[in-house]
Amino acid sequence: MNILVAGAGGFIGGHLARRLLAEGHDVCGVDIKPEWDWYQLNTDYEDNYRRFCLDLRDYGNCIDVTRWSGAERVYNLAADMGGMGFIATHRVDCMQSALVTINILRAADRFGVDQVFYSSSACVYNDKLQQDTEVSLKEDDAWPADPEPGYGMEKLFGEEIAKFYREETGLRTVVARFHNIFGPNGTFAGGREKAPAAICRKVIEAKLSGNYEIEIWGDGEQTRSFLYVDECLEGVQKMIDADVDFPLNLGSSELVSINDLVSMVEDIAGIKLHRNYDLSAPQGVRGRNSDNTKIQEVLGWTPTESLYSGLEKTYEWIYNKLI
Ligand code: NAD
Repeated sequence: MNILVAGAGGFIGGHLARRLLAEGHDVCGVDIKPEWDWYQLNTDYEDNYRRFCLDLRDYGNCIDVTRWSGAERVYNLAADMGGMGFIATHRVDCMQSALVTINILRAADRFGVDQVFYSSSACVYNDKLQQDTEVSLKEDDAWPADPEPGYGMEKLFGEEIAKFYREETGLRTVVARFHNIFGPNGTFAGGREKAPAAICRKVIEAKLSGNYEIEIWGDGEQTRSFLYVDECLEGVQKMIDADVDFPLNLGSSELVSINDLVSMVEDIAGIKLHRNYDLSAPQGVRGRNSDNTKIQEVLGWTPTESLYSGLEKTYEWIYNKLI
């Protein structure tokens, strides 16, 4: 199949392109970043992998790349995003990803693409439901809406326009709400990193420097769940195959506090650190877990890999980057 991956230079897009290439598809990868900045170039599949550096907020670029790729399926993973430190301070940038979302759908519809996958986020969920640490979010909790401002609002808009394209044009759109995806070959420094990669990096830096201290954002009791990237891609594939026509949570239901996460990474590193809590740092919602009842019902499948085993692989990759 001819497949277009938007955001192929990013973390999940790089893993997805690799998986599709390994399955024998002809893949066209696009990202706004220059190639030297892509996490994975997948050069071992050079014959089946064309890469382009283009800004997909521009409709003309979406048209070009959809035509060049002859795409039968498009995965839209392109978004200007990062962890809480980024999205809380870059709302204009985050909301501009709506242009990518719209223009990819317009071009896909125009060129007769069969299916478009859209990566939404747990940030669409109503903020008021996430004020304590024991929160499990089910799909219906997104409405009435009060999403994370900026990034979450853009994702909710993306879900809606994807739904309307399916209803009004017949373009088969599939939407997953990712809950904190992590793994190797992603951002671990520079301001856009998310908690698992940030904590792995901080623990490794402490270990390498001998300064056995770590800064934690907030009091560390805020809770989240984290899904390893391979299981994320597994879930995406299952949703595509089943042509699921409503947004589904794609996340782990293993709820941990940030303090628990630090303890796991300390254990992997074989050290104990003194914890300094920065109560003024952005923390996001107080608690958020993925309720996986619906995905189990619809797909007969939910993620099962333990957080610890995913952290071991992520830790090792970041460690090798830092030494
Ligand atoms: P990422 O930042 O590593 O990848 C996104 C890629 O999109 C980047 O390489 C970026 O350069 C590219 N991009 C941004 N604007 C673009 C534009 N105008 N034109 C072309 N490319 C552009 O992020 P990721 O973690 O791989 O996330 C992939 C998708 O999954 C995003 O849509 C993100 O919002 C969504 N998501 C991710 C998580 C997570 O925990 N990683 C959680 C929820 C949702």
